[in-house]
Amino acid sequence: MNFLEERICKDGIVKEGNVLKVDSFLNHQLDIALLERMGEEFARRFAGAKIDKILTIEASGIGIACVAARYFSVPVVFAKKARSINIEGEMYIAEVESFTHKCKNQVIVSKKFLSPGEHVLIIDDFLANGCALQGLISIVSQAGAQVEGIGIAIEKGFQSGGRTIRNLGYRLESIAIVDGMDAATGEILFRGQEV
Ligand code: 5GP
Repeated sequence: MNFLEERICKDGIVKEGNVLKVDSFLNHQLDIALLERMGEEFARRFAGAKIDKILTIEASGIGIACVAARYFSVPVVFAKKARSINIEGEMYIAEVESFTHKCKNQVIVSKKFLSPGEHVLIIDDFLANGCALQGLISIVSQAGAQVEGIGIAIEKGFQSGGRTIRNLGYRLESIAIVDGMDAATGEILFRGQEV
């Protein structure tokens, strides 16, 4: 088991509805030493890739992206969730359905902060059905920039997002991939990774 899998086993809580709660270390209270190890791990997995910018989505991706950015020495841009907007022209806009809140949000990034030709590493905390990632990928493509890779802390491998994104040809690296979990027993099964 790697460091993140160990931490998930120790402090993660399996909830009904395929939700893994990690709010004591990853997306409410943040364990910065753990985030640093994750940043280091992303840097190792994407070593040699040309990365100009990290793109994430508010709110829980921001902390992870910021710590990772220290290892790549690049700026972080985060997509903002906006309920109603009327600022077409200056913004890239994508529609994202929230897995946890079951609602649709538009997410926006100012055209000032993503330019044609830039190489982008997308980072997020979770990958479930892939809606958040599809929105971010759409924003990168609207900008005429290029997705160099995608780094995820926890992928729920029993949901469709990971397979869809890999089938589209993107380089997707998830530090922990959960292949099954049981809310009744609290058991969590991880996918073995050769990295
Ligand atoms: P997706 O768009 O891939 O379906 O879901 C990704 C987003 O939903 C992530 O950015 C994350 O905020 C949230 N999410 C999905 N599954 C879980 C989960 O099991 N636990 C938590 N805490 N958040 C999740």
